[in-house]
Amino acid sequence: MGGFKFCKVCGVPVHIGKDQSWNSDGTITQRRDPDHRMLFFDSEGLDVLFRNIEGLIGIPIENMVIESKARAAETYIRHLLRGPKGPLARLIGIGRIVGRVVEQGRVMGYGDIKVVEFNWSESRMICEIRDPYSLPLFCGDLKGANQAIRKVAGTISYEEVEPGFYRIVNYNAPHAPELQERLMPKPLPRKPGDITFDMCPGCRVPRDISRFKWDIDRGTVIHEPTGVRHAIFGSTGLQVIFDELEAELGESIPETVIEAQRMHMESRMDGRWSSLGVDDLRNWLAVQGLGNLVTARRDEEGMYARVENPAVPLILTGTATALYQFLTGRKGETTWKLSPDGDLEIWIKAAQEHRGA
Ligand SMILES: [Zn+2]
Repeated sequence: MGGFKFCKVCGVPVHIGKDQSWNSDGTITQRRDPDHRMLFFDSEGLDVLFRNIEGLIGIPIENMVIESKARAAETYIRHLLRGPKGPLARLIGIGRIVGRVVEQGRVMGYGDIKVVEFNWSESRMICEIRDPYSLPLFCGDLKGANQAIRKVAGTISYEEVEPGFYRIVNYNAPHAPELQERLMPKPLPRKPGDITFDMCPGCRVPRDISRFKWDIDRGTVIHEPTGVRHAIFGSTGLQVIFDELEAELGESIPETVIEAQRMHMESRMDGRWSSLGVDDLRNWLAVQGLGNLVTARRDEEGMYARVENPAVPLILTGTATALYQFLTGRKGETTWKLSPDGDLEIWIKAAQEHRGA
């Protein structure tokens, strides 16, 4: 793959640090749009999480995931097109925008993406992707991007041509009703933090990022010590999925998401986790852009944590529950609260055992 430059100091693609900033408040933000938060996240875990949710509630959620993600992507791209460069972007051509999205997708770890057909007059786009970071999220990205550009509702479908290889068709009927502007959750003002990263002087990303291996041809980013695949994507796109599930399926959804994430993280935790101190956890969350762990303690009573600027609080809460269970060997009972200023507090204590009933 030509055209991709890697940092001479740490080996990470230069685009990563050029486009994203790792901040001392536990967030990752886009440099050109500091309100847009990003996650550098275990992407294999996403599909496991969705499958766990489906297993717990007993109904498929794929369509809801695609639709919610599409809405977030559409809103975001509309916002970009409204900026000073928007009209220019339209002018220089949709093909180039799409080409750029695809190219960036490889750096972000989305998979081996190819645009097979882009037919503007017939409102059709066909993509092929091998090993997507998450098939429903990628479908949502494509649908949302096309809706933002064409300004009308679209449909998307995929077929698995061979294992892990998909052909995705997006179609926007020319006379479909124009889409309403949608409201996305407003970002809360962020609280300042004092996290310090050991930054690469060459490309301004934390040194921890250089423990990931980028394969641009395959569009993958792998954490070398564990083999876990990661991807970089907007945190709002994930949050709106949980919001939508809750709106559609009811108030038991937050608990379900927490349990689904706990189940997933339980399978991820190994000996490495038992030796992690609070500073390690704080750093690990911040490298992923999940927030600033300002307090964490564990005693006989249980575990307590407070996170400022939390992203996807349900994911954090599920992860904390898994960690409690891993460290204590006991089942945890979790309560959590988001305060009006956005802080996440999590309390976990040992669950009462119900035996023999
Ligand atoms: Zn570097």
